[in-house]
Amino acid sequence: MIFLFFSVSAQNVNLDYYLPSGYTYDQEIAKPSSILGFEVGEWHANHTQVVQFYKAIAAQSPRATLITYGYTYEKRPLIMLAVSSPKNIKQLDRLKEQRGGLRYPDFKSDLEGMPVVMYMGHSVHGNEASGVNASLLSAYHFTAAKEIEEDLENIILLIDPAINPDGINRFASWVNSHKSYYPNGDPNNRELNESWPRGRTNHYWFDLNRDWIPVQHPESEGRIAQFQAWLPNIVLDFHEMGTDNTYFFQPGIPSRNNPLTPAKNFELTEKIAAYHAKYLDKIGSLYYTKESFDDYYFGKGSTYPDIQGAVGILFEQASSRGNLQESPYGKISFPFTIRNQFTTALSSFDAATDLRVELNTYMSDFYKDAKAEYTQDDNKAIIFGAMEDYGRTFHFADILLQHNIQLYSLEEDVTLNSVPFKSGKSFIVPLDQPQYRLVKSLFETRTTFQDSLFYDVSTWNMPMAFNLNYMSLSSKILNLAKVVNVSNGLSFKEGKVLGDAGAYSYAFEWEEYYSPKALYKLMDIGYQVRVSHEEFQTKDKKNYRRGTILVEKGNSEKSDEAFYEDLKTVAASSGVNIYALSTGLTGGVNLGSPSISVLKKPSIALLVGDGVGSSDAGEIWHLFDQRMEIPITLMASQRISVADLNRYNVIILPTGDYSALGEKEAAKLKSWVQNGGTLISRGSAMNWLADNDIAVFNFQSPDYSDTTSQKKYADLENDRGAKLTGGAIFNAKLDITHPIGYGYRSGEIHVFKQGNQFLEPSGNPYANPLVYTESPLASGYVHPTNLEMMKNKGVIQISGKGKGKTIGFVDNPNFRAYWFGTNKLFLNAVFFGQTINNASTR
Ligand SMILES: [Zn+2]
Repeated sequence: MIFLFFSVSAQNVNLDYYLPSGYTYDQEIAKPSSILGFEVGEWHANHTQVVQFYKAIAAQSPRATLITYGYTYEKRPLIMLAVSSPKNIKQLDRLKEQRGGLRYPDFKSDLEGMPVVMYMGHSVHGNEASGVNASLLSAYHFTAAKEIEEDLENIILLIDPAINPDGINRFASWVNSHKSYYPNGDPNNRELNESWPRGRTNHYWFDLNRDWIPVQHPESEGRIAQFQAWLPNIVLDFHEMGTDNTYFFQPGIPSRNNPLTPAKNFELTEKIAAYHAKYLDKIGSLYYTKESFDDYYFGKGSTYPDIQGAVGILFEQASSRGNLQESPYGKISFPFTIRNQFTTALSSFDAATDLRVELNTYMSDFYKDAKAEYTQDDNKAIIFGAMEDYGRTFHFADILLQHNIQLYSLEEDVTLNSVPFKSGKSFIVPLDQPQYRLVKSLFETRTTFQDSLFYDVSTWNMPMAFNLNYMSLSSKILNLAKVVNVSNGLSFKEGKVLGDAGAYSYAFEWEEYYSPKALYKLMDIGYQVRVSHEEFQTKDKKNYRRGTILVEKGNSEKSDEAFYEDLKTVAASSGVNIYALSTGLTGGVNLGSPSISVLKKPSIALLVGDGVGSSDAGEIWHLFDQRMEIPITLMASQRISVADLNRYNVIILPTGDYSALGEKEAAKLKSWVQNGGTLISRGSAMNWLADNDIAVFNFQSPDYSDTTSQKKYADLENDRGAKLTGGAIFNAKLDITHPIGYGYRSGEIHVFKQGNQFLEPSGNPYANPLVYTESPLASGYVHPTNLEMMKNKGVIQISGKGKGKTIGFVDNPNFRAYWFGTNKLFLNAVFFGQTINNASTR
């Protein structure tokens, strides 16, 4: 039946090609082409066209209503079409509310009578366009097909056409602008090879299909709020994979199921899979299951539902990545990919209606069982916090709240097992709550695994990512300490200026998460700011740690009052408290000490474009632009040869392949460093810098050799995969007297590692502010050879050249925007790299 690949090209496709036989359609409902101006699959619909069509359908159909649940960074609306019987549509709010009861074990409602809810999520990866385009057919079919009238009494569809509108638009625009009217399918066509950064990701180049747990982007925030309000039974997640494939639907690889997910989830997935098989058999499309993809990391769209009583289903269609592309199975046309995705939407609809009662019962049972597990658990609550930093603690609490996790704020200081938890900077998660299982997974550390391969990260312990103290408690503590329930919302606490206008100097410590934002704002206004490399004490016995920032009016013409107002504004927006100091004669060093350095405002260029790792670059861009409100230049790396680099005092090279840069660019960068620049590099960028004599970094390769003369061919892929470090958490030792370590109170921190880059510590022991410990594994999977290799190796290293230096980060301190705990290491390089003593770097 392979001929189907050829049968329809984008040029001669019509609606009948997609629609299943045996249905009649309501003439009052607009066909997609009547709104789009072209047939589905003829062009790649852009997001505006998609929204236009959905609005038209919502206006015409009594079966549908349109929900706008947010806006992207580029201000595109995030929409979802609820489709059900006209009667249900009229009482959607009541039906939604009723579902909340499914999470409570004493729920007595009518499981037999409740509709099933199926969320259909399309093209979270923007360049996987068959999803969003198939959603046009789903919206049409489910609102217009007369024969499903009765079924709709029992089901509510939430059709989300475009999870990632900004990426979808980037891709549609690329393909459409390179489309030939007579395509030949040659993979070398420009149409089929998007330019950097491609359409997979969102505005800041983040993979939104890893953000279901971290919830760091507006797309996820809106969607998770809908998920938590609706509690869908089934979540469909439409993707594309490489061109040289067929079609995949879950179940995924059974040995990689998350052990926290009940077995019944996989049974239901298999039951549903039988429907997809039947429907794809009918149209003659090839498919497979169980051999790839997994349900391990709960931060993916098809896995997040699994820890909340629902069933997530991943679909992966071989991509045409344009209108037509050659593959071993023949030429894959865009309409063909759309038809497969629409077909499994139809099969899912049948499965959901048939399994409705079983799915609702399963969700209710899931939460009953969770309650029973809680009862068996010796732990009754978890407390977390950072005594020195409200910002990080707040952001972690905010994530928990978005997942509908109940939370209490601690309102008095307590010390537990010698760990102090401060009032207002600590929270308590009671385990006696419906989201018990999700909570367990967010706080879990795991170092033993059934399988040694992972489609994504092997661990996501959140307090480690946030560098927070946390502890499981055998009592609920809620009745032992003063607490306030904050489950209904939490707002960020503003910082204050303590003391009056006209003080001798002002100071703030570097431990608050947003202290770099405060520092930059003050520099930008033009005040004199300095960083203290030694501790000092004021008369009121307050100790100011290394990294404390001192702010004076400097050459600014502003009045004392205007200066004071600026300090107040900065304190409020950053959550940082700023203290007035009345004299320079402080304990420890005095305020005019040579160990307090004047800071230059960073002027930052971030290299981007071909070869550069777009997610690494995007995480850095997001950190500056969204969190710290610091403007930076995104500079295409080829521009090094023509740009005036003296405009910048900080240049950042994300991980990537810089081999396209020539000797001229390398020489220019080298002389910029020699003249005093601070170069910050990550991952494989460090190799390029070392190869071009811009910095000295020495790497080691693990030795996997063994003497076995014969190994099973069948084990080849697994043996290879087991050597990959897909993502795990490691213990590292931080020198908190080094400028890179300022703002940290403890020398023990966690770092997130992906990949096998192993850095020899510098021969100068002062140039290694962060190294792995002797026993580095904290959580996740790592191959024993890699673990051995990693011990005492460098994580951050500084290499000097002339007046400047290169700071290398082996591991990613900005991983997926939720590693709040290591962001400061990176920001320290940006702000304090200029002050690092050159004698420590060579
Ligand atoms: Zn995908």
